[in-house]
Amino acid sequence: MRKKLVLMVVDGMTPAAFERAVESGHAPALSFLAEHGEYRQATSVFPSLTPVCLSSIVTGAGPGIHHIPSMVWWNRQERRIVEYGSSFPALRAAGLSQSLVDTIFNMNARHLARDAVTVYEALEDAGLVAAAANITCYRGRHRYLPTLPGLNRAAYGPRRFFYYGLFESDRTGAPFAVRSRRGGSVDAHAAAVGRWLVTRDGFDFLAYYLSGFDFASHEGGPEGAAAERAMEQVDAAVGALLEAAGGPDEFLERYAVVLLSDHGQTAVEHVVRLEAPFADLAGEVVVTASNRAGQVYLLPGARVDPAELARRLDGEAWVDVTLRREGDEAIARKDGADAPADTLDHPDAAWRARTALANPNAGELLVSAAEGWEFGDLGGGHHAGGGSHGSLGRGDSLVPLVTIGVHAEPRRITDVVPAVLEHFGVAVPDSMEASAGVR
Ligand SMILES: [Zn+2]
Repeated sequence: MRKKLVLMVVDGMTPAAFERAVESGHAPALSFLAEHGEYRQATSVFPSLTPVCLSSIVTGAGPGIHHIPSMVWWNRQERRIVEYGSSFPALRAAGLSQSLVDTIFNMNARHLARDAVTVYEALEDAGLVAAAANITCYRGRHRYLPTLPGLNRAAYGPRRFFYYGLFESDRTGAPFAVRSRRGGSVDAHAAAVGRWLVTRDGFDFLAYYLSGFDFASHEGGPEGAAAERAMEQVDAAVGALLEAAGGPDEFLERYAVVLLSDHGQTAVEHVVRLEAPFADLAGEVVVTASNRAGQVYLLPGARVDPAELARRLDGEAWVDVTLRREGDEAIARKDGADAPADTLDHPDAAWRARTALANPNAGELLVSAAEGWEFGDLGGGHHAGGGSHGSLGRGDSLVPLVTIGVHAEPRRITDVVPAVLEHFGVAVPDSMEASAGVR
């Protein structure tokens, strides 16, 4: 008999943070899973930003297929900027109510490509029960109204659907207090939901998403004291699931497990505005940037081409590499010279560049920040003195990945869901693109 499966996604957890936690003796739940599983490092997508990464995990496909291009992007059809929450000032700058609707509803209902099948859709179409706890890529086939009175826009999620207290398929009694995020209240909410689900054995597949580590790592850097403390909260939230099953051994008797993060993080010291070198092109280009990735969009009638946009960044210490398309080729420009993207030595660069550029919502030029640098967001927000991510570079791109009871060797974050479907004996949809060794 096939075991049920829990997919645990710890936002922003680097391989080093995971390995330190396991060796420290202060993370009993993570240590237990590491001891009973197979551990490897996998690669994220580009840009290595959460909306892109979680969509990639859940659809088993890169941004070229699921169409979520970044944390902030230019919507060509609607001629407006879409901002999923780079910072509160950025949300306000993009229009607070529009940004909340984009983040909570439109990302799943409109921006996520219709034909990019989600893990919840694939499993539930095969008669299984899928559950999602706080993961922001949630599209399923069941209709939910918000728990807040007066809000009547519906969202479509899996059969068991929990989203920050705003949507809940079942009354779990989980307390929700977003105000004390620093104290771990968001992950405590996920843990309460997870405990309820495991106690009832109320799913075949659960996507369990913890965001507190990323938040702490942005504030104090990936090696900072806040991140260390946040790992203990991650461990407590994972431990809550093990306890709900009656203990760690009982948990593994019932469930297979995949534990991973969506992207890494690196320390940042300097902030720059990606808008500045393009300031004279008002009306011809739109620049969007957040964390360590940015994009330049050409507007209809623009007199510049992508190659010229790329050349404008020559000699800037804060640019590591830019990507653009020329015909069917992905061109990388680094240190003032063009080369095919597959000559880059960044992790999994060829595929990540190709799928990022194949996204119809991506800009004509994609910019990956140099080490130590971050792009200020729409509202001037940044994490200088702390941590960030988004680039094609190693530190932002490598993630820890533990599998228990799943017979596959995932190399990319997009390999996980195809492996989950194989685990359940469910056909992998054509939209998913697992690498060799998984499918
Ligand atoms: Zn982050």
